[in-house]
Amino acid sequence: MQERMEQLVKLLNKYAYEYYVLDNPTVSDGEYDLLYDELVKLELETGIVLFDSPTKRVGGAPVSKFQKHTHIQRLYSLDKAVTIDELSSFDEKIKKVLDKPIYTVEYKFDGLTICLTYEDGKFKCASTRGDGEVGEDVTSQVLTVKTFPLTIDYKGKLEVKGEAVIRLSVLEKYNETADEPLKNARNAVAGAIRNLDPKITEKRKVEIYFYDVNYIDDNDLQSQTDAVEFLKRNGFKVYNFLKVCNSFSEVVSSVDEIEKSRKTIDVLTDGAVIKVNDFGTREMLGATEKFPRWAIAFKFPPEEVTTKLLDVVFQVGRTGKLTPLALLEPVNLCGATVKRATLNNMGDIKRKGVKIPSRVLVRRSNEVIPEILGTTELYQDSIDINPPKLCPSCGSEVVEIGANLFCPNKDCRPRVVASLCNFASKDGLNIEGFSEKTAEQLYDVLGVRKFSDLYKLTEIELMMLEGFKEKKIENLVNSITYSKEPMLDSFIYALGIDGVGKKTAKDLAKKYKNIENLKNTEIEELLAVPEIGSIIAENIFNYFRDNENIKEIESLFSLGIKPKFEDSAKGDKFKGERVVLTGTLSKYKRSQAEKIIESEGGEILSSVSKNTTLVLSGENAGSKLDKARKLGIKIIDEAQFENIVNS
Ligand code: NAD
Repeated sequence: MQERMEQLVKLLNKYAYEYYVLDNPTVSDGEYDLLYDELVKLELETGIVLFDSPTKRVGGAPVSKFQKHTHIQRLYSLDKAVTIDELSSFDEKIKKVLDKPIYTVEYKFDGLTICLTYEDGKFKCASTRGDGEVGEDVTSQVLTVKTFPLTIDYKGKLEVKGEAVIRLSVLEKYNETADEPLKNARNAVAGAIRNLDPKITEKRKVEIYFYDVNYIDDNDLQSQTDAVEFLKRNGFKVYNFLKVCNSFSEVVSSVDEIEKSRKTIDVLTDGAVIKVNDFGTREMLGATEKFPRWAIAFKFPPEEVTTKLLDVVFQVGRTGKLTPLALLEPVNLCGATVKRATLNNMGDIKRKGVKIPSRVLVRRSNEVIPEILGTTELYQDSIDINPPKLCPSCGSEVVEIGANLFCPNKDCRPRVVASLCNFASKDGLNIEGFSEKTAEQLYDVLGVRKFSDLYKLTEIELMMLEGFKEKKIENLVNSITYSKEPMLDSFIYALGIDGVGKKTAKDLAKKYKNIENLKNTEIEELLAVPEIGSIIAENIFNYFRDNENIKEIESLFSLGIKPKFEDSAKGDKFKGERVVLTGTLSKYKRSQAEKIIESEGGEILSSVSKNTTLVLSGENAGSKLDKARKLGIKIIDEAQFENIVNS
């Protein structure tokens, strides 16, 4: 047992060094936590704690490249719970000291702890947590951050604690052009601050959210709520979510609320922090070497994991684009077995340093297939991935357009199959019962290549397809016939123009009202449609300059396909408004509110930009609301919305 403990301590210390000192972890947090928990369990069972055990230490030692800074008051890490049972035993322990504890629940942002010191109402220095007693002086780096005050009203000695973060949208933008993409927002912010060149910090647009007063000369602050009010009063940025809970069930529902809404905010969150509100009780509870006993982090299941990449294959999509797909050693991620992950293109492969084989960090994303964030380890036999010269499906010579490779053969099987499926999909012409298998059979057996071929199919031809009996044939023929009068936006979507999704198709339909107008448009006009950028504008423009596409649309029309356009707006209460919804509404479902706005002549946008004219803000609105405020956009709450609707 002791041997295993020694092994674990060695391994965990190596990982902690890579994580805290190098800001370059080689395993995911979830994998680290599993080993850590195993060590804690063995330490409890044996009663032995090795002298260099990570369970005795907070974070990592300060690095000599920075000046050292000794904190006035020790900074702690947080104990963690991953199940409600564990959270409940925390509550029980607290109840041994206080009958009816009041808790606060906050977001746990996953960034880098930063401690700021003030004297005489002036900012003095900034430091990292380090080992809890001594951190690194990162004053010059933190001075590039715009979101904290340099002078404050409070004149005594003060230490405040916050989490430095990089917004997910900022990270995404940064990674689009970076030579070396940053693996995740936590490493990105740690690397930005623990970096000797403050210019790098500035470029990464770090922000700090403050959540604790670590030391204060006066002892007027009696609780977490007092402390947060004090922070706000003195100009510190505080995230707009602090629940005061009078019972354990309220704690559970607040944690639940964070878990549900965290996906909609622009900052990486790995959990919720539950704290005893009253400072007197905190003092009675005290702390272990590593954690305060009065607080706990409830951690959500990890969304990142490392695994071995075994191979990369190239898949041909609807537009002919060849997308590299990584084949992985199966690994469990958020309860699902992951075997494949996407890499965007060859540039992405190079920037992320992916080779065959290699160990890669994989993240669950909103897409069906998870994405690869970066490489954590290469092996002796790792080899470079070369771009294919020929299409893996039809053997045509591939062409390079911008950052991507394309198969130029419009009849290439996977390309046709994907286009047909997109054409027939729910958001397209909604041909019920049309599956990928149907598309493959139609391609292989009946030589279907174009959308218009679908409308020429006969029942006798369909009888040649395996599994197609009388009923199935009748259903498919009927569905194809019913699809002949689609809405204009569905028809535009169905064409499968690169980058034109459901929302853009809707916007185009609204603006152009028929295909003829869209066909004759100019790039400048397309660019005036909100959310259409130069690449998509060019894709649309070029699509209608291709004779084959025009001929195909004409064939569809001559076969009886008649896209209809109806202006859905009945009223004009939101006429001309381009509206963004954010936060949670209490009376309306979001989709309901969107429908009302659209039926009253407004247009729904997904993100706040200078094109937005109005923001409807519900509870717990996050970054969108901040941005709207910054841009001076009109903001209404649910009650004002209701007033307008009922006016
Ligand atoms: P932690 O990140 O789990 O929790 C403590 C930190 O939470 C605090 O220091 C503070 O900075 C932050 N925090 C965010 N919001 C807060 C709020 N509202 N109130 C109070 N604190 C708040 O603990 P840690 O000690 O910083 O890191 C330990 C974790 O780091 C491990 O559980 C593991 O997941 C990860 N880790 C990973 C590796 C790896 O190799 N992948 C190595 C070492 C550690």
